[in-house]
Amino acid sequence: MIEIDFIVPCRMMKSQLHINSETLLKARLFACALLAGCALGGAVSSATAADRFDLAVTVDDLPVHGALPKGLSWPGITRSYIATLKQHGVPEAWGFVNARRIAEQPASAAALDDWRRAGYPLGNHAFSHLGLSQAPSLQAWQDDVAAGEAAVAARMEGRDWHVLRYPFLDAGSDPARHAAAAAWLKARGYRIADVSISFDDWAYTEAYARCLDKGDESAISAMKAGYLRRADQIIARTRAVSERVYGRMIPQVLLTHLGAWSAATLPDVMAKLDAAGARYVPLDRAQADPAYREPSPRAGNGVLMERRAQDAGIALDGLPAVEPVAPLDTVCR
Ligand SMILES: [Zn+2]
Repeated sequence: MIEIDFIVPCRMMKSQLHINSETLLKARLFACALLAGCALGGAVSSATAADRFDLAVTVDDLPVHGALPKGLSWPGITRSYIATLKQHGVPEAWGFVNARRIAEQPASAAALDDWRRAGYPLGNHAFSHLGLSQAPSLQAWQDDVAAGEAAVAARMEGRDWHVLRYPFLDAGSDPARHAAAAAWLKARGYRIADVSISFDDWAYTEAYARCLDKGDESAISAMKAGYLRRADQIIARTRAVSERVYGRMIPQVLLTHLGAWSAATLPDVMAKLDAAGARYVPLDRAQADPAYREPSPRAGNGVLMERRAQDAGIALDGLPAVEPVAPLDTVCR
């Protein structure tokens, strides 16, 4: 049975990470060595023309996903992220901001400026990452979204920054609140950044930090092996679900997070996407596909293709499965 716990991403906001810059650098260099040409910007692809598909990259929880690891900086993690995306020819990657983190960790603000200097846009992820269903009221949630706007707008002069990624991919479980929030967002000029594929990167961050703190390289290797094995399974499942639901491979929107684990594993993930036939495109181009424009009573909730399958009563049985994320709570305790 497929594991779709990525419908509640960013759950581990309070994780305590410990990492040193040398370890991260080594991990990146090792990943680049495996990539055979990543430093030159070359993508190694085994995909045929028929395998090609469009994919937009998006990154949540800028400028801070989890606690700041020892020896690193948020701008440093951000620059690593940007370098990997550029090496793989990603033309645009929306970064979705929780502005509260800037007040909590002022040094992290430079990460947002680096993101813009790289030519990548910033959108809103709500001031404090408040989920719509968990908010004490619709008004409280609207206030949180509005409070997140200034930090984004100030860095997006001359560009339309009204793109929202719902925190936790929670567009409201209550139909009335869902509809009211969607109408309010539309009136305010927002469009929604949907999600169709995720590798559950957020789920690994805490355990990764503990293992780095202990210097348990074998545990980290096991985590990475499991993570990348699941990435292969998720890519295969994504293609199969798309064929089942739409009769074709639709453009995909990838959700990732700006954290230490995500930055360290991104080169491997991008290599897998390259090999699978991904062709990186802007978000608006991906979401111009009719698949992203079909009306849904739960628009914005969870991930696109599973939502559409439920709306249309399409069974997803018999498709390639994805193993659950291995239990990580006890790793490196
Ligand atoms: Zn988030």
